[in-house]
Amino acid sequence: MDCIFCKITQKQLPSDIVFENNKMTVITDINPKAPKHLLIIPKEHIESVNELSENNKDLIAEMILLAKDTARQQGIEKGYKLVFNVGRPGGQVIFHLHLHLLGGWHQETHEVHI
Ligand code: AMP
Ligand code: ZN
Repeated sequence: MDCIFCKITQKQLPSDIVFENNKMTVITDINPKAPKHLLIIPKEHIESVNELSENNKDLIAEMILLAKDTARQQGIEKGYKLVFNVGRPGGQVIFHLHLHLLGGWHQETHEVHI
């Protein structure tokens, strides 16, 4: 399949892998939008949040819990954002499900609100 994140999780393309288990790969984003920007990527190819169903409840929970653990491991647990871009109008460019973990800002109050 011609999917960049399938290739990354199957190690057919190089990436900076910070964590991996049998279901998930966590990589550093190649074009960071925050001082720390990681991507939580399930190995299973699912296009986007719009393709998720009741059957994916465990996977969804695992993604969020892994994002939380990764935030702590990266030392950014005091403050971070978790973002799913959904569909082209929602800013999604790669149609393989992934959760953005953004953080590493130093100020106590954060001025960027969404
Ligand atoms: P999205 O806009 O939600 O589809 O996010 C895709 C993200 O993947 C963007 O933040 C890109 O910078 C990132 N990205 C694209 N190609 C790579 C790559 N080869 N390795 C790491 N991150 C990538
Ligand atoms: Zn894929």
